Amino acid sequence: MSAVPLRTADLGRTERQRVVTVLGATGSIGDSTMDLVRRGGDRFRVEAVTAHSNVEALAKLAREFKVRFAAIADESRLGELRAALAGTGIACGAGEAAVIEAAARPSDWVMAAVSGAAGLKPALAAVDRGATVALANKECLVCAGELFMERALKAGAQVLPADSEHNALFQALASGNREELSRVIITASGGPFRTWPVEAIEQATLEQALKHPNWTMGQKITIDSASMMNKGLEVIEAAHLFALSADEIDVLVHPQSIIHGMVEFADRSVVAQLGAPDMRTPIAHCLGWPERIQGPAARLDLAAIGQLTFEVPDLKRFPGLRLAYEALRAGKGAATVFNAANEVAVAAFVARQIKFGMIARLVEATMAAAASDGTARAPASVDEALAIDHRARNIAASLLPQIAAKAS
Ligand code: NDP
Ligand code: MG
Repeated sequence: MSAVPLRTADLGRTERQRVVTVLGATGSIGDSTMDLVRRGGDRFRVEAVTAHSNVEALAKLAREFKVRFAAIADESRLGELRAALAGTGIACGAGEAAVIEAAARPSDWVMAAVSGAAGLKPALAAVDRGATVALANKECLVCAGELFMERALKAGAQVLPADSEHNALFQALASGNREELSRVIITASGGPFRTWPVEAIEQATLEQALKHPNWTMGQKITIDSASMMNKGLEVIEAAHLFALSADEIDVLVHPQSIIHGMVEFADRSVVAQLGAPDMRTPIAHCLGWPERIQGPAARLDLAAIGQLTFEVPDLKRFPGLRLAYEALRAGKGAATVFNAANEVAVAAFVARQIKFGMIARLVEATMAAAASDGTARAPASVDEALAIDHRARNIAASLLPQIAAKAS
């Protein structure tokens, strides 16, 4: 046997090495992914990393992992990024096109962890070249799920769900065939307002919404978890990932976040995936797939946890989940509108322009307006989906002042 590691020509990798690209490398999912890549040592080589505006963290990762390309979405930061990478030989770029270029460069595996619909085009660039894509960015499936999955199928790209619930379903689905499935159940922690009365939820502050009981995540998804909009997005995400109808997807509140997802088969067997609430477990599953790699999460100690409990979600206190089912059932562009309006509403809540309870009201009003003026039509292409997204954001922004005024 040769002492020199074999190299494959195209990617400059050693044999059995996986070449990876991480979109949104400076975020919460990015951080967990880079932690696993770091622990994996020679098993991984990083081709490219991207961020929105955090030049310092991006340059630090680029240097540590000796990447070949680093992209910053905010064009005004290119000079800073160049300066931070001077003398390293690492190529860099800025703007949306550079993030797309990072995704399009040759690599075996891509983590799509940009937050929001902004992640759609970069994730598609990875899918279109047939890469294995670990998808954390659920908004891109909610915005243009059908088109996204069609493109993946056409290019022969493997989409691996990195979202914990969907990763659980992906693992559990291996126990049977699609035709034998009767429904899937995704769990929800219930967030910080699980036991709060509706009046208190209405008035909840940003600080209260950011205190998630079980998971440490980026700001947008943490607020989505408090409103249960996140679970709504996940219902739509599951529909696209696994070709399921709204009736085949149930949500169960499970405050301990130990069971992440379950699949019920025709014979009434229910197969569940369990694990400590640590995103490094589903990400490790994607990173090693189809093999298993060492995961750093705490071992599951069910005796110490003692009890696993379950509740039916309360759609009155958490209307975001109801709206997601409505969008899924309405089809066409309704989910695109739902997602766009929610992004606008969350940004307004973070900017302290609206109260927490108004997030769902703004989404509902935008969905109604978009349904009646024809905005929520079925998109024939990704560009059309993005046009619907854009139009829905404008509708939401125009409705914002009256929704805010009504409540004060
Ligand atoms: P974060 O906000 O922590 O990170 C987002 C990442 O995307 C950062 O690297 C950020 O760069 C970058 N980014 C933000 N906006 C843009 C943009 N317009 N263009 C290019 N890059 C951008 O989010 P999370 O890591 O929490 O979530 C990422 C995705 O994964 C979301 O879709 C979320 O729903 C999903 N997800 C997250 C989970 C979690 O535990 N965090 C669990 C399951 C799914 P910068 O740092 O410069 O701002
Ligand atoms: Mg999730």
